[in-house]
Amino acid sequence: MTIFSDSAFDNHEQVVFASDPETGLKAIIAVHNTNLGPSLGGCRMWPYASEQEAIHDVLRLSRGMTYKSALVNLPLGGGKSVIIGNPRSDKSPALFQAVGRAVERLNGRYIVAEDVGTTPADMQEIARQTRHVGGINDGKDAERTGDPSPFTAYGVFIGLKEAVKFRQGNDDLTGMRVAVQGLGNVGFHLCAMLHNAGAELIVADINPAAVERATTELGATAVSIDEILSVNADILAPCALGGVINDISIGKLKAGIIAGAANNQLEADRHGEMLRDMGVLYAPDYVINAGGVVEVHYCRQGRPVAETKRHIESIGETVREIFTRAARENKSTGFVADRLAEERFGKAA
Ligand code: NAD
Repeated sequence: MTIFSDSAFDNHEQVVFASDPETGLKAIIAVHNTNLGPSLGGCRMWPYASEQEAIHDVLRLSRGMTYKSALVNLPLGGGKSVIIGNPRSDKSPALFQAVGRAVERLNGRYIVAEDVGTTPADMQEIARQTRHVGGINDGKDAERTGDPSPFTAYGVFIGLKEAVKFRQGNDDLTGMRVAVQGLGNVGFHLCAMLHNAGAELIVADINPAAVERATTELGATAVSIDEILSVNADILAPCALGGVINDISIGKLKAGIIAGAANNQLEADRHGEMLRDMGVLYAPDYVINAGGVVEVHYCRQGRPVAETKRHIESIGETVREIFTRAARENKSTGFVADRLAEERFGKAA
């Protein structure tokens, strides 16, 4: 097993292995960087095939959180935790309380939140043992449901409009054709905002009920999941899976702008350079999908949703700075976003 030589190791400040024989807990907490504040990141529960796979994931994801929080101007660093286990069969209240004790031992250097495989109820169990947990809704703000997706969608909408403005000088979406891949929690909210702004929607999802809802409620045009990436549209918004911009899809793209919620949309960094060469404006995913993290932070501070939204609107300025610098330096937008994040959190050389 390797840690320091894992490809995702990036001078992480601290990696903690937590075990609890009574509940069977095996977890890893990675604190990547706390230059800007305590590290925050979700707790993922996944039946990893090996411990190495879990280590790699927690190193990679915690690093990503440092970049995301820095670019969205939160006073937070990057961290993440993973529980090795099956979320369908291996959960118990005691297991999450053991996670809470492990988080508590870090004295606030890591703030845990929900992620793939964990739920608000799991966070409530963690909260019995530590106050360093996000996503606990005090119920005071009616707009706050505990679901970060509408806030993520709002940030994507802001970033998408900024891309349109960068291209055409104004952010009027009337009549613009937006292809949305994936109509889940984020994708559907985004579609509603785009529809209200006058955009024409072209949508695809593997779930026929989601497609039906978008066509009837939002007047969207449905296409097959094989067509959505190459459909004739002004903007492509990937909101389903990672790796959708790859060697196979990239040559078929027709949209001039890519702005969506899905994490890791580019299969490799070189696809960002290819998009630049093709003249496609790509709004880096981790920059525009940071609205959910902003809401976790404001919710934890007991501050109103109106403040969350105002903060999310700052994504527009950051995206504009990235586009401007990328154009000036002839770099890909992803490359510029990473360098800007590093400047903000003060990455050691
Ligand atoms: P979700 O699971 O609610 O929605 C995903 C949707 O994509 C589902 O409706 C699913 O049926 C559909 N889908 C799956 N495979 C597809 C395919 N091949 N073609 C078309 N549609 C397909 O997830 P979500 O919470 O809406 O998140 C969407 C993306 O955004 C994910 O990549 C997620 O990591 C990322 N993201 C989400 C948040 C958030 O707040 N939920 C925050 C940051 C990033």
